[in-house]
Amino acid sequence: MLSTIRFIFFTVFTIALIFSAVLVTVLNTYKPAVKAYLNGKFVGYFSDEQQFDEVYNDLVAEKQSIDPNVKVYLDYEPTFETSYVRDSVIADQNVYTNLRAEVKTEYTIYNVAVNGEKKMTFNTKDEANKYASSLKKEVSKLKTEVKVEKVSELGEMTSIERADSILKDIVDRNKPVETPKATVNNRTYVQTAASIGPSSVAATGSGVWPTVNRRVNCAFMGYAGHTGIDLGGPIGTAIYAYRSGTVTFAGWGSGYGLHIKINHGDGMTTYYAHCSKLLVKVGQKVSEGQKIAEIGMTGYTTGPHVHFEVRLNGVPVNPYPYIQGK
Ligand SMILES: [Zn+2]
Repeated sequence: MLSTIRFIFFTVFTIALIFSAVLVTVLNTYKPAVKAYLNGKFVGYFSDEQQFDEVYNDLVAEKQSIDPNVKVYLDYEPTFETSYVRDSVIADQNVYTNLRAEVKTEYTIYNVAVNGEKKMTFNTKDEANKYASSLKKEVSKLKTEVKVEKVSELGEMTSIERADSILKDIVDRNKPVETPKATVNNRTYVQTAASIGPSSVAATGSGVWPTVNRRVNCAFMGYAGHTGIDLGGPIGTAIYAYRSGTVTFAGWGSGYGLHIKINHGDGMTTYYAHCSKLLVKVGQKVSEGQKIAEIGMTGYTTGPHVHFEVRLNGVPVNPYPYIQGK
């Protein structure tokens, strides 16, 4: 009788011990969290509602760093459900990707129209007014006006070099025939970095396209300070190593977002920016055409694309002449 009681006691005790060990492990691994939804669509796990606001505010700040006047909003109020999840999924990369896809933006852009036709687009009123008034002054017979437009995506803005050449073109086309050429052409135009190109390396294809899309959305120096080329593609599209080399950076950087740098030797490095996912690590050797990342919208970008840079001894050069199979 006594041994039976003792047996039952020890069995119950052992079960209780195992149960509490499991409980402690589960409590350490799983954390209380909230599941956030927008219009019934799952966005991600957050430690609390306040963290959702913090992530959202990060994304607002990111958009505002491109254009401080952008209106950023969500179409729906978030709803939350309490839940227990693994610590590692709380406010992870997917949260940013999912939420970024839901964030709506409204940019105000200013078009300079000549006789009703859009000629230049700026994101500041001052710049648009400046070119509109120069045009009015030089070609008064044309109807020049600034038109305000609201757009959900910030498209390509007219660079100063481009605006100057459009202005010159309009002035040239509309000049009175008796005007001597010299007075019209006495402006000087700065050669853009894109047309200079490097001289030390033969500009014949030496690497592969970094993604399947071969259409350049924004060219090298397409706007002041644009040190690479932009190739669009849906989020998740493969990004390939341009040549074989060693990964020297794989992580987050302001502006570039999630990005990778590869050293190819001979002073050449390449950059792949705004990724949604990185598939390689620092120090890893990669081969030409190897999938290294996926297209995303991290960092300063208004749409999913890979920003691809070629640097020779640290200096960004136009990558286009260095790509095979154009
Ligand atoms: Zn770019």
